[in-house]
Amino acid sequence: MLFCRTFAIISHPDAGKTTLTEKLLLYGGAVQEAGAVKAKGERRRATSDWMKIEQERGISISSTALQFEYKGMQMNLLDTPGHEDFSEDTYRTIAAADNAVMLLDGAKGLEAQTLKLFDVVKLRKLPLFTFINKMDRPSLEPLELLDTIEKTLGVVPCPMTWPIGSGDRFQGVYDRQKKKIYLFERVSGGGKKASEVQIDDLNDPKLSGLIPEELLDNLREELEILDEIAEPLDINKVLDQKQSPVWFGSGYNNFGIQNFLESFMELSQGPRGRASTDGVIPPDSSEFSGFVFKLQANMDPKHRDRIAFVRVCSGKFEKDMQVLHTRTGKTVRLSAPSKLFAQRRETIESAYAGDIIGFVNPGAFAIGDTITTGKKIQYEGIPSFSPEFFNWIRNPNPSKQKNFKKGIDQLREEGAVQVLYSLSDFEIDPVLAAVGQLQFEVVESRMLTEYGVETRYEPLPFQVARWVKGGWPVADKLKGVLFNAQIFKDAQERPVILFKNQWAVDNFQEKFADVELLNVAPL
Ligand code: GDP
Repeated sequence: MLFCRTFAIISHPDAGKTTLTEKLLLYGGAVQEAGAVKAKGERRRATSDWMKIEQERGISISSTALQFEYKGMQMNLLDTPGHEDFSEDTYRTIAAADNAVMLLDGAKGLEAQTLKLFDVVKLRKLPLFTFINKMDRPSLEPLELLDTIEKTLGVVPCPMTWPIGSGDRFQGVYDRQKKKIYLFERVSGGGKKASEVQIDDLNDPKLSGLIPEELLDNLREELEILDEIAEPLDINKVLDQKQSPVWFGSGYNNFGIQNFLESFMELSQGPRGRASTDGVIPPDSSEFSGFVFKLQANMDPKHRDRIAFVRVCSGKFEKDMQVLHTRTGKTVRLSAPSKLFAQRRETIESAYAGDIIGFVNPGAFAIGDTITTGKKIQYEGIPSFSPEFFNWIRNPNPSKQKNFKKGIDQLREEGAVQVLYSLSDFEIDPVLAAVGQLQFEVVESRMLTEYGVETRYEPLPFQVARWVKGGWPVADKLKGVLFNAQIFKDAQERPVILFKNQWAVDNFQEKFADVELLNVAPL
């Protein structure tokens, strides 16, 4: 079934992603009541509690794929964990999506985490849809917001709806295509529909009774400016990531979401062909294929469940199917596949391109692995993203050295953490590098429960990692001349420079203008 839309939401913590997700699921009838999406407090608990939750549920509470149906279209929403459960999985999840929804807080605009996530959206060339949230609070000037998006992301925003006031004076939005005004009604908890007024002429006297004159004047003026300066929406440009349709609303008040959802269904893309070692594989190919984008370990030592999340890229998957695991060349029988339907994990019989399925205890699966019923192919890999936290990992017990090494190697292969090595002969312990602190805690816990090794961390004074374009021929020349930075090698023996902070990176770039630094590992 190709009538599906697989998408991920990128946002900064607190922009309203949980709230929006919940409202989207309500539209799809996947959850009956608000609050069914993981409770906020629960998600923000300390890591030890997080592990307990993992144990109780036996499944990820962080990155999951939620499925709901809207007007006959199957929507697959990939949840991208933020806050302290931010990890490389967050980036990889985006690599499994076909579309990205960028959710911004109207008062804050583009924030740090959104920008980082956008890097992956850009790399994957996903169409970008923008929802500007919390318009019931005082917001930044909408025209300025659009200008910042265009300048910072290099994507031209195309307003689909336009806000009328904000904060206490928020009146609703004007739909530029339908030429309708949707009036905002303050309802707590959501669920109520906004009232619509068809407007063919913005000077229609009936508007005066509904919206304060001053805001109407403002709206007329801004719409005129938009007609002059905004590029007309062009679906090809949207699919090409050159334009981003923009909606305004308030997730909490369930306002503006339907406008978004309806156009999103039309403008977003279904599963498309994906690049492999055998060219682009079309989604409707007769052979089933997919790739692993996330591995989830159950923290319960009694149930060493691992779940591998696979994005289906082509063909039809059927339960108990035999597939080729192309990296090892082994044939694997895939039983007990599951899908996440809202909060429930359900065993499924079949799945199609665009779907996300999870396999329990899939054996030797690693991030980026391809499985297929067809001939041996490998999908384009999932790159390593720039880590920001670095710790030496120490094994205080020399008799456990073998297990220590085995554990680190396996966890690295699985993609739980990145591993870097010192160039100095005196330092044999590896450095763990992560994009989120949670990854360290997961490794520490798994080293103990799965490999029987108690480990210790020692932080390194670095915050930024950059790969060097051109590899060692370039990096060798930098040995001994770096300031506030040090060269390491990654598991593929590529040079990686760790910098003390962004300032040190800028300084480096000034001094060595001809050296190109990369924030994603070259594939
Ligand atoms: P997340 O961290 O991005 O998942 O954000 P949440 O959905 O948990 O929202 C963060 C806070 O913003 C919560 O207190 C929400 O109730 C609030 N919030 C979300 N959407 C809106 C909105 O449209 N208007 C207002 N005023 N608050 C909102």
